[in-house]
Amino acid sequence: MVVKTLQDLNTLVSLSKRRGFVFQSSEIYGGLGSCWDYGPIGSILKMNVKRAWWNAMTRRSDIVGLDAAILMHPTVWKASGHVDGFSDPLVDCKDCKTRFRADNTESYLTKKQCPQCGSKNLSEERNFNLMFKTHMGPLEDTGSVVYLRPETAQGHFVNFINCQQSSRYKIPFGIAAIGKSFRNEITPGNFIFRTREFEQMEMQYFVKPGTDEGFFNEWKERRLNFYLKFGIKKDNLKFHDHEKLAHYARAATDVEYKFPMGYSELEGIHNRSDFDLTQHMKFSGKSLEYFNEATKEKYIPYVIETAVGCDRLILAFMCDAYREEVTVQKDETTGKESEDIRIVMGFHPEIAPIKVCVLPLSKKEELTVPAMKIRDQLAEEFDVQYDETASIGKRYRRADEIGTPFCVTVDFETANDGAVTVRHRDKMTQDRIQISQLNTYVANGLRNFNT
Ligand code: ATP
Repeated sequence: MVVKTLQDLNTLVSLSKRRGFVFQSSEIYGGLGSCWDYGPIGSILKMNVKRAWWNAMTRRSDIVGLDAAILMHPTVWKASGHVDGFSDPLVDCKDCKTRFRADNTESYLTKKQCPQCGSKNLSEERNFNLMFKTHMGPLEDTGSVVYLRPETAQGHFVNFINCQQSSRYKIPFGIAAIGKSFRNEITPGNFIFRTREFEQMEMQYFVKPGTDEGFFNEWKERRLNFYLKFGIKKDNLKFHDHEKLAHYARAATDVEYKFPMGYSELEGIHNRSDFDLTQHMKFSGKSLEYFNEATKEKYIPYVIETAVGCDRLILAFMCDAYREEVTVQKDETTGKESEDIRIVMGFHPEIAPIKVCVLPLSKKEELTVPAMKIRDQLAEEFDVQYDETASIGKRYRRADEIGTPFCVTVDFETANDGAVTVRHRDKMTQDRIQISQLNTYVANGLRNFNT
């Protein structure tokens, strides 16, 4: 058997549509640029990814959760620097009308040419603010302008004192949040890698100045271990330390993943100094200083930030999980060889959207009725699918394509022995298990899936 990994994002885009992971937004109207909808399987996958991150963050004794509003006071974005500085340089091709970013387009940087048609008939570079603007209330006057947040982090900063005082945590401590962000990206693309509406999972860790370097390194290691724990292959991950830093940053690194289009940023880890809290103190006139009762020290904490896009992480999980197992079969009579391909999404069991698929061997009622009962029994604890159409082989393949760890087959013996056959996605082993023991078997099997 030969195992092939993912070579091309289009393979994933079509699998996503076929199996209900991700659909293009407003597809029946021709789609809306770079917006995507998570389908029946994708929406569970997304919840599992968020839960994995949320638990890794908030089940620690030093991090609290936050769910802040998308709309914030407009001055937040002045203080944060987004109104004046959150922009990309934009260039228009006057011939083919392509619009592209001047700072990361190879043909423009090297030859001042349009990446689409090669023309040199280009506009000047213009700065384009990436924030979506809207109006609050019925009047569209400038007084009511609000922005869709381009990052979740500002919610953490403006709630620093609220979170610290209500939880009575001492520094070092962190605030974690998951939520939608919006950026009017000039060149979105690569499926769910860069979109205009996306979800971020950000954590800000507040530390005493002087201890920031140590915590920055700790968080680098923790975040790498998170990816390894959930099955991302080590060879597909690397750090990319920034040489050029933002004026407020003391250190910055990206965790990069080897996507089919090459290594690209998955997560940013930044030492943001006391920049954000200081800015909000200045613009709001409120103190965001921390007072240590024990030592009587008063200071503005430094912030170590870890920021990953949920959608980008889903893409990394999907790219990493995808495999094609190719076996060559020989026809006994004709001697002709043909390829059999099993497509498997080898998700970590906690990430896998559906944990068990229940399959009656035939559509006869004597099998479908008990199979539905078994489905209900399993559904009390797990996300389950029931599938009775097509041959058993085809149904196994469908379950493999969404990465289902276990398939349970109900056959004509089930009524006699009260047992079912459970097939393991990766080992392809089959165990005969009593129905009364099935939930325990699956729970243990998920915990020890790779052992
Ligand atoms: P990039 O350089 O890719 O534009 P960034 O450095 O601007 O990203 P951050 O502002 O640090 O990104 O945001 C943190 C994380 O949010 C990124 O690492 C990425 O995973 C995610 N993210 C940012 N922009 C987008 C987007 N347009 N679509 C999907 N995810 C995004």
